[in-house]
Amino acid sequence: MSTVGKPIQCRAAVTWAINTPFVLETVEVATPKKGEVRVKMSSTGVCHSDLHILEGVEKDYPFPSVFGHEGSGIVESVGDGVTNIKPGDKVVLCFMSWCGECDYCKGKKTHRCRKRR
Ligand SMILES: [Zn+2]
Ligand SMILES: [Zn+2]
Repeated sequence: MSTVGKPIQCRAAVTWAINTPFVLETVEVATPKKGEVRVKMSSTGVCHSDLHILEGVEKDYPFPSVFGHEGSGIVESVGDGVTNIKPGDKVVLCFMSWCGECDYCKGKKTHRCRKRR
């Protein structure tokens, strides 16, 4: 049964506030919006960036939150405007987003993107 175009439910380790334990919960994942992709995760880890957020070092991070931004998986569906990735592609996730259009991105220094979202 295809899940494309429908919200899906997943198990996730959710943290509800700074310095609180993870809670395994079922969460709903919306369909991808413009410029977004939804990935069926194969594996993930929790890194030191996640730890900083959990400890409150990174201010203004929204809670509740699901950590594990250094994962890999298979693209399940894509939002409007996504042309460089398609469902079925194997992908690796990255904490820092980039636009793909600025001089840094075109110069392969995506970590310095001027339009980081
Ligand atoms: Zn990380
Ligand atoms: Zn850029």
